[in-house]
Amino acid sequence: MGWRVVVDEALCQGHEVCEAEAPGVFEVGKDHKVRILSETPGDAERTAVAQAVKYCPTHALKIVDD
Ligand code: SF4
Repeated sequence: MGWRVVVDEALCQGHEVCEAEAPGVFEVGKDHKVRILSETPGDAERTAVAQAVKYCPTHALKIVDD
């Protein structure tokens, strides 16, 4: 079973918490919008991504289990 990261771009306000938690998966540009570097990260990234989901101040991120 795989999993992926989904971002609601309308909610993202560029707080960069996600990038701090999982820099291999999230990058926040000068436009203050997050870019997902890998929509289907490996399981080694799951804990860091879960932290990013948890601490994103605008709840713009979620993990979807496929
Ligand atoms: S932490 Fe949330 S609001 Fe901040 S850049 Fe990441 S997705 Fe956007």
